[in-house]
Amino acid sequence: MENLLELIEPLKNNEIPTSNEIKIYKNSLHSYKKTHFIMIKYEGNKYILVVGKDTLFNDLNGELIRNDAKLCNLSHENRLVINDYFEFTKPQAFGRNKTTIGLGDRLGLATPGHVMAINKTDAKPIFAQQSIRELDLTYRTMEDVIDKAAYGAIQEGYDGGYGADGDHLKKEKDIEHELKLGISMLTLDCSDYISNDINLDDESDIESSYNQLNEETREYYENKYLGKTFKVKEVSLDFSKSDLMKVVAVYSKAIDYMVYIYKTYIKTLDRDIDFEISIDETKTITSPFDHFFVAEELYDQGIKVTSLAPRFCGEFQKGIDYIGDINQFEEDLKIHALIAEHFQYKLSIHSGSDKFSVFPLISEKTKGLFHLKTAGTNWLEAIRLISIYKPDLYKELHEYAFEYFTETQKYYHITPDINHIIPIKNLEKSEYKKYLEDDNARQVLHVSYGLLLTAKNEKNEYLFKKDIYEVLGEYEDEYYQLLNEHICHHLDLLNIISK
Ligand SMILES: [Zn+2]
Repeated sequence: MENLLELIEPLKNNEIPTSNEIKIYKNSLHSYKKTHFIMIKYEGNKYILVVGKDTLFNDLNGELIRNDAKLCNLSHENRLVINDYFEFTKPQAFGRNKTTIGLGDRLGLATPGHVMAINKTDAKPIFAQQSIRELDLTYRTMEDVIDKAAYGAIQEGYDGGYGADGDHLKKEKDIEHELKLGISMLTLDCSDYISNDINLDDESDIESSYNQLNEETREYYENKYLGKTFKVKEVSLDFSKSDLMKVVAVYSKAIDYMVYIYKTYIKTLDRDIDFEISIDETKTITSPFDHFFVAEELYDQGIKVTSLAPRFCGEFQKGIDYIGDINQFEEDLKIHALIAEHFQYKLSIHSGSDKFSVFPLISEKTKGLFHLKTAGTNWLEAIRLISIYKPDLYKELHEYAFEYFTETQKYYHITPDINHIIPIKNLEKSEYKKYLEDDNARQVLHVSYGLLLTAKNEKNEYLFKKDIYEVLGEYEDEYYQLLNEHICHHLDLLNIISK
């Protein structure tokens, strides 16, 4: 307690206190009128130490350590209080004209490392980004995800603004719930409404599903598209009857859903929101026809889209580089980017981590205006840290991840060649970090986050969670440095490092 009290006087003068025993996050000093606070790590936990007497002091909930000083938990309630006083700590929308990077953080520890990277670019960060699947697999809530992002920004004094993405939301109840929590971006996953069961190689199958639509609808589409040429910059699109039947059969229900969600939840909102359409988690590649058709229909119905994620040719698997024909990708990307530019939204690249070989193309074709989502590799950087500093723990995680791989594999489309991974017993501890350079091992570790964070023993205690958080707490600065390097590698190849 003594050493804690020593911090109060300098803080009262709006100065950064120093201490031999207590870690002080010097960028986190913030003031409102005569109240000042700073983030510290005291006895292993992070707190906000606040001194003063204004409303901010009274509103923050904490333990009084002197009549003018309080030690406050990094709680959800306190985050909301800070949001009221400091606008930059609230998730915000960035609109269509800002390049944005999604920086999903499964552990809730990564934001300060992400800030270091984001400080080198004009692109804006989406620090909070989590799908329902990711929340379920880690037993987390979206409140907690936003809390951690906000406190990360506060810790590093990052006042450039950040977003919160309700990623891949499908159901109305989730959309409603997360909008209430203050997400600033909604990624609407329309895959439940995209007709994936049609055999697209079978004309008669396409025709019969097309003919199931009522006559009025078919007439509307035919009058609008058949015999017309659509120009997108230098690209011309002519819809044949069979092209049209195909896109209508596959996408018309999804479009209805997008329109419905927009009109019900987005348009009625009293604040800005980035509305992203995701059609990437489908069986079929999004052709330029598909993309144009969806965009044109949304535009005509007055739907303002901030970004759209098509499914590109080739494969965007988790945690590894692009797989596929880069020339074909370049050709398609060029048209997708032109369509996005034409309708004035950003192209969104999902599973964007580590797609180093195509980053320069993405930067070039979109003229630097895009949204790119990364997430799981930030977890891999945590695993890398553990492999370096706590190899014994790494070994346990590694063995467990491999033991249950058939289970975790179900959630993601990945294709690692397990037989190509060196058995861990053949390696020295100092060599464990090599697994993070091996694409096959990376994929196994990538999809195991939920398993490893929630595995319990027979006494219902977490097997690894506590240890994982402990190492990451102990080597906090090293973790931030790894994240910084990892994300900067992305920013660099995307050509958006400006500072
Ligand atoms: Zn996606």
